[in-house]
Amino acid sequence: MQNGLNLADLGQRVLEGGEISFDEAVGLIGVPEPDVLELMAWSNRIRVHFRGNKVHLCSIINVKSGGCPEDCGFCAQSARFNTDVPRHSFLGKDEVLGAAEDAARNGAQAFGIVAAWKGLKEGPTLDEVCKRLEELSQNGKVRADASLGIIPSLEIAQRLKQSGLRCYNHNLETAEEFYPEICSTHTYQDRVQTLRYLKQAGVRICSGGLFNMGETLRHRVQMAFALRELEVDVVPMNFLNPIQGTDMEGRQLMSPMECLKTIAVYRFILPRKEIMVAGGREVNLRSLQPMMFLAGASATMVGNYLTTCGQDPEKDLQMLRDLGLDWEWQWLED
Ligand code: SF4
Repeated sequence: MQNGLNLADLGQRVLEGGEISFDEAVGLIGVPEPDVLELMAWSNRIRVHFRGNKVHLCSIINVKSGGCPEDCGFCAQSARFNTDVPRHSFLGKDEVLGAAEDAARNGAQAFGIVAAWKGLKEGPTLDEVCKRLEELSQNGKVRADASLGIIPSLEIAQRLKQSGLRCYNHNLETAEEFYPEICSTHTYQDRVQTLRYLKQAGVRICSGGLFNMGETLRHRVQMAFALRELEVDVVPMNFLNPIQGTDMEGRQLMSPMECLKTIAVYRFILPRKEIMVAGGREVNLRSLQPMMFLAGASATMVGNYLTTCGQDPEKDLQMLRDLGLDWEWQWLED
């Protein structure tokens, strides 16, 4: 490789169960574009070795949209920004179960209820959330997951688990040292503590972040190492789709090759994990979308994202068929 790294040695080490160091990962994420395909050849081997040819599909529903008091600079749902995101209060049973059935029809094995607010406290909203989780678990068509912001206590995490919650998404979003640049109303450590409570309660953890908010390549590697240390189960990788009205409006999209390189390096750092390419894949990867799996992704989202539309689910399923990947398998193990 042009920067002197021996890719075959690193790839072979990971395949044999070893780890790459932080400095080696920084070297990999710095490889120039002509070396990205070679990098992907190895990250693809690592994906197949540890995850097989199976792809996990998940879907989400925005159960409470807009008007969030937090100030995450990328988010169209923050009340601080003037965006045209629709606002609605907490959705009822029929809407949520109807969306869960659609998700199952689209091939999703997991279905997350997502809300735009700071987090959950004891009270009527938590009661309502628990009811939705119970209904989803009883329905049984998809796994009941959620992304409901900061969880301030182990007791609340345990209540969610008892209501049927299987996997909770709460992203680190970026590296700890860059976090204050994107949010001032809560801290990176609030996020880490939320993950700890949920893990303690026996809930699977889905945590990753968003790329292209102005962070450095080193920050991207730092986040991957933080996720490795936290032993998360699923790592969602989102690529900024800049929304007008937010702090990120007007930012250039990432190049498709830059996205693929980032996915590949994450596969090297987190070889056994479910790596899910989610928001922004259509606009950033464009015609190279199928290559995200060759770069190392083993999961993706079908249907719409929170504030932007995904591509037609049938197109996604056709992409998987064309690649010879299998999504018709049972839920992830507990
Ligand atoms: S990312 Fe979540 S917490 Fe931050 S503003 Fe958006 S909805 Fe609120």
